[in-house]
Amino acid sequence: MKRRKFLKSIGGSLTVSSLLISSANSATQKNQYKWKMVTSWPKNFPGLGVGAENLANLINKLSNNRIKVKVFGANELIPPLEVFDFVSNGGAELGHSGAYYWKGKSAACQFFSSVPFGMNSQEMNAWLYYGGGIELWEKLYNRFNLIPRPAGNTGVQMGGWFNKQINSVNDLKGLKMRIPGLGGEVLSRAGGVPVTLAGSEIFTALQTGVIDATEWVGPYNDRAFGLHKAAKYYYYPGWHEPGPTIECIINKKAYNLLPEDLQLIVDVACKAANIDMLSDYTAKNNLALQFLKSKKIEILKFPDEVLLKLKNLSKEILVEISKSDAITQEVYNSYSKFSSAVSPWTKISDKAYLDIR
Ligand code: CA
Repeated sequence: MKRRKFLKSIGGSLTVSSLLISSANSATQKNQYKWKMVTSWPKNFPGLGVGAENLANLINKLSNNRIKVKVFGANELIPPLEVFDFVSNGGAELGHSGAYYWKGKSAACQFFSSVPFGMNSQEMNAWLYYGGGIELWEKLYNRFNLIPRPAGNTGVQMGGWFNKQINSVNDLKGLKMRIPGLGGEVLSRAGGVPVTLAGSEIFTALQTGVIDATEWVGPYNDRAFGLHKAAKYYYYPGWHEPGPTIECIINKKAYNLLPEDLQLIVDVACKAANIDMLSDYTAKNNLALQFLKSKKIEILKFPDEVLLKLKNLSKEILVEISKSDAITQEVYNSYSKFSSAVSPWTKISDKAYLDIR
């Protein structure tokens, strides 16, 4: 509880410098913890992979190398979607991934990354840090011997790349689109055909017509894959991923072996990495968008009719999956209660301001 209170109170550089001083003072302590971090991203991939390296460096530096984290990209130690089990079983002490990949463990996991038409990054952080979100997330992961921490966010994503215009709900019928998770379920209910493909396979599938459309992340990451060379229409907004949280999962046994100051350093490093990734995305998306605008593509907003249909289907699906198990019901209740309470404030603050800027 003390630590949580402290985490809630941090914010300024003063805190970081006092942490640095305290770790320098304790550098004489002999115990060094050699930790592995496995990730679901290619090593140093823009945004996500960079975020994993950044988190590892923060832990190393803040602890004055009393913890030494070595990062492994996707497939270096294990395939990208085995991160959860590997850290759970103690193969590595840390994992860097996205909670929606673990919906097979419990449908509740999806609420800790992103939900179609759900909360944006700022609202997610408010729920996680101050709305009981992290406590529920800990409860959910506890039986897997894991401690979860928010450790990054991409911000609102783009709707994706399409090789034809979407002018009505009818245009979604039969549309073969790479779109994973809950977004894919929504598309399917709207008559489309969701396809799951790893990031590296997307470009060729879109270019050769195996798929008609794809979502990935946003300008920064989409440009890196050259998706503007494979489809002409770039749609917004990313209704399906309005601000996905990236997670750091910590093996509980390894965490409990740390002295309290090192546990705090891991927690604070995750918190710093969380805001850092969002800042990186916001800065780089902006530059990549300028580049994409100079190419022969059209940047279009989904018609209101299409967004409304997708929103109604999303609500339906969320209510259905909330009934999967007791913990999913509990997480859904907390998430939707917080979301309904925070949106009237977002409407008269951020939204009202952005509309007139
Ligand atoms: Ca995405």
